[in-house]
Amino acid sequence: MFDKFHDECGVFGVYGRPEAATMAYLGLYALQHRGQESAGIAASDGIRMRMSRGMGYVADVFNEHNLAGLPGSMAIGHVRYSTAGESRLANAQPILIECAHGQIAVCHNGNLVNQRELRDDLVARGSIFQTSSDTEVFLHLYARSKQPTIEAAIVEAVAHAQGAFSLVFLTPDRMIAVRDPHGFRPLALGRLGDGWVVCSETCAMDLIGATYERDVEPGEVLVIGADGVRSLRPFPEARAAHCIFEHVYFARPDSLVFGDSVNRVRTNLGRRLAGEAAAPADVVVPIPDSGVCAAVGFAEVSGVPLEMGLIRNHYVGRTFIEPTQAIRHFGVKVKLNPVRSILEGRRVVLIDDSIVRGTTSRKLVKMVRAAGAREVHMRISCPPSISPCFYGVDTPRRTELIAATHTLDEVRRYIEADSLQYLTLEGLLGAVNSHRDRYCTSCYTGHYPVPFPRDEAQYLQLPLKLDTRGEAPK
Ligand code: SF4
Repeated sequence: MFDKFHDECGVFGVYGRPEAATMAYLGLYALQHRGQESAGIAASDGIRMRMSRGMGYVADVFNEHNLAGLPGSMAIGHVRYSTAGESRLANAQPILIECAHGQIAVCHNGNLVNQRELRDDLVARGSIFQTSSDTEVFLHLYARSKQPTIEAAIVEAVAHAQGAFSLVFLTPDRMIAVRDPHGFRPLALGRLGDGWVVCSETCAMDLIGATYERDVEPGEVLVIGADGVRSLRPFPEARAAHCIFEHVYFARPDSLVFGDSVNRVRTNLGRRLAGEAAAPADVVVPIPDSGVCAAVGFAEVSGVPLEMGLIRNHYVGRTFIEPTQAIRHFGVKVKLNPVRSILEGRRVVLIDDSIVRGTTSRKLVKMVRAAGAREVHMRISCPPSISPCFYGVDTPRRTELIAATHTLDEVRRYIEADSLQYLTLEGLLGAVNSHRDRYCTSCYTGHYPVPFPRDEAQYLQLPLKLDTRGEAPK
């Protein structure tokens, strides 16, 4: 496994299309990069809802047989990487329940910062949880709501939550999309003929021929049913805090995220990096695939040619049998192989999107040097990662983030590069569109837009990310 922050989850929903479950399957296929632990789809034929879920990739979980068991013109789907709750089938999504309001299923991308107190309160009042996932909290709150309509009960349930949530609910006759008031995680709305699509990234729309309309706005509730699309704004306004790491690394470059082209932003990051931190090099080499767009921008501004000096093996499965001592750095070598004819005798500038623990960067620098590079310079297309994420992204604890505990030169010496430079925060914000004040940058600054209760640090999950002093985020 590469030393990266890990993707959160991907959500997809389609309303008003025949074979909706198959559409959801295709949509999830396009969102596979956002989670590989489990996949699931819930569908409705207008009367009854059915669900199929499993552990593994979308292509492993679904086949003609189980998709045929999901009839109807409405479906929601989910790919999961566990950021809260362990990895097991019970925690796979969607979660489908039947309660006083009828059947409902939910898919969630994000992380609640107050899930523990909500859960403890619900358990004290008699709720029995089936999963360890924070998403189930929404359904218990919903089931307990005395509101007369489905929409009002969802709004009442969601109003208790703090943190990051892009949610898609499905009931037998409607689909409801909700985005938290800060808009941490993306959620886009599109058209597909007479039907509607909501999804984490627009690359899922491209695959099924849907057209991007707009983002579900922060704090917006979209009710999609037989009478069309209704927009509700039931929550108090809050400062927007879109996850800037979606642009740096998570999202696919062919997606629009937060209304902006990921490819455009990522290439801009490389352009700005070249302006801020030029390197004495003969060749620009991206770490594939995440460093490619930034390397294109870096090469363009620096005038140094871009060449694919590292080749990625795309067919490595999630698990492979690793020799113990026989082949050093096997884990990196099986995924990336250096091209000696490009690297030998040259001064190389490697472009990557982040350094987390530094272990992979160190192996890559060694590998490039071993392939004959005369000098190896490392340039990173975002600022140093110094703080963990509490909003749905899997990050190590602070003490494990190398830039949080080491100076720039110490990191350089650890990864054994001839020089090391990161993009500045100013450069990062300058690469996005004009709404630079609408982004979360907490993992680079340690300043958090949504604090969690201090005693939350006593609970499972979140303290795993705090340092040994148990320090709560600012
Ligand atoms: S802390 Fe970092 S990874 Fe988490 S939401 Fe903010 S920008 Fe994204």
